Amino acid sequence: MIELMHWETLRPLERTRLIRQLRPARAAVDPWRPQGFHHELERAPDGRLERVNVIFLTNRECPWTCTMCDLWQHTTIAPVSATQLLHQLDHALMQLPKADAVKLYNSGSFFDRLAIPPAAYAGIAERVRACRRVIVESHPALLGSRTLQFQALLEGQLEVAIGVECIHPGVLEALNKQLTVGQLDRAVAWLHAHHLLIRAFILLKPPFLPPAEALYWTQRTVQWAVENGIQTVVLIPTRSGNGIMELLQQNGQFAPPTPEEIEAAAAYLFTQPAPVRLLDTWDLHRFYSCPNCARLQQQRFTRINQTQNWEPPVPCTQCMAS
Ligand code: SF4
Ligand SMILES: [Zn+2]
Repeated sequence: MIELMHWETLRPLERTRLIRQLRPARAAVDPWRPQGFHHELERAPDGRLERVNVIFLTNRECPWTCTMCDLWQHTTIAPVSATQLLHQLDHALMQLPKADAVKLYNSGSFFDRLAIPPAAYAGIAERVRACRRVIVESHPALLGSRTLQFQALLEGQLEVAIGVECIHPGVLEALNKQLTVGQLDRAVAWLHAHHLLIRAFILLKPPFLPPAEALYWTQRTVQWAVENGIQTVVLIPTRSGNGIMELLQQNGQFAPPTPEEIEAAAAYLFTQPAPVRLLDTWDLHRFYSCPNCARLQQQRFTRINQTQNWEPPVPCTQCMAS
């Protein structure tokens, strides 16, 4: 496909059209039910090991169309109502244990008024009032008055997760997030000025770069997050699965990280002085060919995330890898 060769120079609308053309089918979702929920332990920026409830809310698809994003698969086309959203939250909270913190992830931006209706803010705040920290995600362009309105309703501290992805300007452009490094700098300064906690999601091995450069820019992006005082820095191994990423892979513009590359990037992250450093272990097994390695490293990274203490790779007796 000729457009792939010039991906970086296409206009956002052209990229969006191609990404959408290549998408697999959307899953059937119920606007009265969350996509999922679970309970986990996670280190907080103040050093405590917290009990965290994670709830994946069902809502309207994010208005951006990022090249690497597969989150739209479990979203709706039409907005959900405040009543439906609060019903989802009640459904999850009824089955979840008590927690110190809650992640309200919505496959997009919490402050997108067509995703999470502001009419639901007070009801959400009421339901999570026992939590000392409430974590939501948002595109930097949607930070503003609604963020402050929601924070004012909370008993606990608001933490905003932003998809920093990669600070290589050409890659950030090619990711079609319609975001610049300057906008990221301003978003972080704004969040600090309003005393909000920040979480950065960073792509481990972004597309559009040769492997060594992709890992170098993963490290540069981690450094940027640390230098900007971001409290929680999360590496997310870049995955395919949305149509365009498979095509980029066939075309040599993307390769998923190997276990060795995951090790190298995670080891670097844990040399950095951020209060909380995390390797995202969701779907980690897909990057390992040996199921036993996948299980061992998943358990190990879960431990490292919780203790914040680096551990060397666990040798696998089934394939003799380490
Ligand atoms: S802004 Fe986030 S949720 Fe929206 S398309 Fe991009 S990566 Fe996906
Ligand atoms: Zn193995």
